[in-house]
Amino acid sequence: MNIPEVDLPRIVVIGSGFAGLKFSNKIDSSKYQIVLIDKNNYHTFQPLLYQVASSGLEPDSIVYPIRKIVKGKKNFFFRIAETQKIDTEQKTIHTSIGEIPYDFLVIATGATSNYFGMENIEKYSMPMKSVVEALNLRSLIIQNFEEAINTDDIKERERLMNFVIVGAGPTGIELAGALSELRRFILPADYPDLDIRRMQIHIVEANDRVLASMSKKASMKSEKYLKKAGINIWLNTHVKDFNGATVVTDKRNFESSTVIWAAGIEGCSPEAINIEKTRGKRILVDEFNCIKNVEDVYAIGDIAQIESEKYPKGNPMLASVASQQGAQLAHNFNRIARKKKMRPFVYKDKGSMATVGRNKAVVDLPFLQFGGFFGWITWMFVHLMLLVDFRSRLIVFTNWMWRYFNYDRGTRLIIRKYKKPD
Ligand SMILES: Cc1cc2nc3c(=O)[nH]c(=O)nc-3n(C[C@H](O)[C@H](O)[C@H](O)COP(=O)(O)OP(=O)(O)OC[C@H]3O[C@@H](n4cnc5c(N)ncnc54)[C@H](O)[C@@H]3O)c2cc1C
Repeated sequence: MNIPEVDLPRIVVIGSGFAGLKFSNKIDSSKYQIVLIDKNNYHTFQPLLYQVASSGLEPDSIVYPIRKIVKGKKNFFFRIAETQKIDTEQKTIHTSIGEIPYDFLVIATGATSNYFGMENIEKYSMPMKSVVEALNLRSLIIQNFEEAINTDDIKERERLMNFVIVGAGPTGIELAGALSELRRFILPADYPDLDIRRMQIHIVEANDRVLASMSKKASMKSEKYLKKAGINIWLNTHVKDFNGATVVTDKRNFESSTVIWAAGIEGCSPEAINIEKTRGKRILVDEFNCIKNVEDVYAIGDIAQIESEKYPKGNPMLASVASQQGAQLAHNFNRIARKKKMRPFVYKDKGSMATVGRNKAVVDLPFLQFGGFFGWITWMFVHLMLLVDFRSRLIVFTNWMWRYFNYDRGTRLIIRKYKKPD
């Protein structure tokens, strides 16, 4: 695969998400040869996937070519490949393009949806963890209305216009807010011959409050915003089954052809010799992100679980944790190259936030909690700054301003029809 053998130690990094990319940016590649592997040739900014799914942003504005991000780096090689197996005894990874030996391995493969063993939910519900899944959801939402307009069966029409979101974390409530904006500003004009008031948006949550990972104040405020936007919230409710037409919960059933799964995630890493996983399929690492009992293998980001007094079940699976771990591990490798000791990872929690549509957001900072219009401006500013480059910031900002003043969502397109499972 045209990667030269040189005298420098080789670090193979699997995954160019928030953790792998930060590591790649911070590592001193004059001291190591870096081989970055990802199954895609782009990095995805997952926090804005819901805006792609709800026709608010073009997919191109939240994904970036990896080669563009790492271009010009010395001793740096990127290859598109899916890692299938990690052999820690032979110090080799087996990938779709062949075997790649390593001196050090960094696993940064992130997380995937966890359906808690419910096969029907996995088959019929819509996940939203990648740009492809977000585009599938965008197509399905629009297809539903195109179908609803053609049917004379009132029950079927309502089923097509009912949306059930499972999980009231930031992803669930942000998507619910975006759907309610579609219902209010876009769909009535697009489908004048459909009674859009009959469209229902439900959020089903097993916990006793929305945004359970944030403060109680943020939960109460966001619940108020959601209710004001006409979103039905079902707390303390567990989804049990879904056959593509009816959602079964332990409290009541919903007639809906669209269930969006935003309820659970688990670690996602290739099969690996000698690497044990936790119940949530994460990899247990020490405070240096080093995998216990395996030499020269590290894990960072969502896949890594560092247990500490503050986070006994591991750090939260967040972009900020992943970026901080990527940076810290790179600094540690740079320190080793200078014959210095590694420093332990400690998560610096800078706060969390979520938006529920136009002018409304909740923000929890370590020293302050607020919401409303100021929260929304803060949410927009922080997300713009987190985007990878100036071009993306400009495109996203222009889109947001256009939408804000024109109440428009320009990308309600079915580019590739979503085929429902049989
Ligand atoms: C819809 C959504 C909204 C979110 N919103 C927020 C938010 O508002 N704030 C926040 O802090 N966090 C948010 N998160 C969480 C955040 O995105 C994750 O914590 C973060 O992406 C984790 O980074 P990572 O590098 O560990 O994994 P990822 O960013 O998921 O990257 C993993 C990479 O590994 C690659 N990969 C996986 N398996 C293989 C393989 N076998 N071979 C080769 N490559 C592989 C993937 O292609 C991917 O590029 C959100 C997540 C989602 C899904």
